[in-house]
Amino acid sequence: MAKTALVTGITGQDGAYLAELLLQKGYTVHGIKRRASLFNTDRIDHLYKDRHEKDVRLHLHYGDLTDSTNLIRIVQETQPDEIYNLAAMSHVKVSFETPEYTANADGIGTLRILEAVRLLGMTQKTRIYQASTSELYGLVQEIPQKETTPFYPRSPYGVAKIYGFWITKNYRESYGMYACNGILFNHESPIRGETFVTRKITRAVAAIALGMQKKLYLGNLNAKRDWGHARDYVDAMWRILQQPGPDDYVIATGKTTEIRDFCRMAFGEIGVSLDFRGAEEKEVAVVASIDEARFESIVKSKPSLKAGDEVIAVDPQYYRPAEVDLLVGDATKAKEKLGWTPQCTLDQMVSEMVQSDVKLFQRDRLLHVHGHKVLESAEW
Ligand code: NDP
Ligand code: GDP
Repeated sequence: MAKTALVTGITGQDGAYLAELLLQKGYTVHGIKRRASLFNTDRIDHLYKDRHEKDVRLHLHYGDLTDSTNLIRIVQETQPDEIYNLAAMSHVKVSFETPEYTANADGIGTLRILEAVRLLGMTQKTRIYQASTSELYGLVQEIPQKETTPFYPRSPYGVAKIYGFWITKNYRESYGMYACNGILFNHESPIRGETFVTRKITRAVAAIALGMQKKLYLGNLNAKRDWGHARDYVDAMWRILQQPGPDDYVIATGKTTEIRDFCRMAFGEIGVSLDFRGAEEKEVAVVASIDEARFESIVKSKPSLKAGDEVIAVDPQYYRPAEVDLLVGDATKAKEKLGWTPQCTLDQMVSEMVQSDVKLFQRDRLLHVHGHKVLESAEW
């Protein structure tokens, strides 16, 4: 029989990819979205059908992880076989500015989901996926990081998520619930939030290529991350809930890349090679050379840049009070038990993200040329 899933955070990057996957598999999907003063469903609009049409299997409900009354009501009304708890204040730097809210939404929010299922007597019916994170590892204890590596979070986000991790495990052990943690390393895509470093870089590459921005300002260029593609990672989430028993899994590619090298790859996609000079707060990247044919094939215009142009500079305002220097995961358990391996390489993902952002900024430039206000701003 077709299953029913409830996805919190459905309007986010992972929520959109997961909803698409579940709909393809025949699920009825209920999603929780927050009330906002502007439309916030851009990422799932292509999946949405008017409820008067036939075969409508995606339903949205207003809700918030900080409101247990509303979570209990939605779980009761939708009677899900599977809950994917993806909703969170997901930005590490912002969590230093909003630590109490982050603890409430990301930490206690997880408890509210688990309690809703328990209070409604659904512990044997409903399987729960908790979006745990490689930020739990924080300060390096072991390389590569795996399920048995000790945690040492380095931000209010990481600390809130550690509560979510342990309360999920505790409810599994206390009440026999099928509740699992996916410890996912960073995963990106063309619909990644614009202030995460990968998307900030690919957007800037596009905007600079089209002459709509001069320079990209970044923080710590030395950090290293294990980046995969969100499409591969939501498949792992689904597999985690289809096993004979509940467990926790690391999901990662096993390869790590410096921020500086991600910049080289992203500019390389449009044929621009970079030369990094200077150190720490004085470090900059200048254009070393341009492959004009490559530039024109992607950007569809002559290069607006020339060798020697400074395109990246460091701005310490993007440094974090405490940093996670190195993440690289060992997903052997997921490979052996879930049959999961990442399909998309970093090269392919960078190419997809840059090309998608070039298209977005081409659209904006066209609107701008025709006197329309540009919504997709190059400033952030
Ligand atoms: P996004 O930031 O793209 O999406 C977060 C989602 O949560 C959005 O739908 C957002 O709604 C919603 N949300 C935020 N606060 C609340 C709240 N209080 N109540 C209800 N909904 C809320 O994150 P991702 O899709 O990238 O990540 C999904 C999950 O996986 C998150 O929990 C994240 O912390 C975790 N994670 C992500 C990793 C990554 O690299 N992407 C790595 C490891 C874990 P709105 O659209 O209205 O803002
Ligand atoms: P995180 O791993 O969840 O914190 O994902 P982010 O994409 O936000 O950051 C990844 C790494 O990039 C961190 O080590 C940041 O310090 C580093 N970084 C360097 N410059 C920036 C920047 O301008 N914005 C963001 N978001 N991160 C940056």
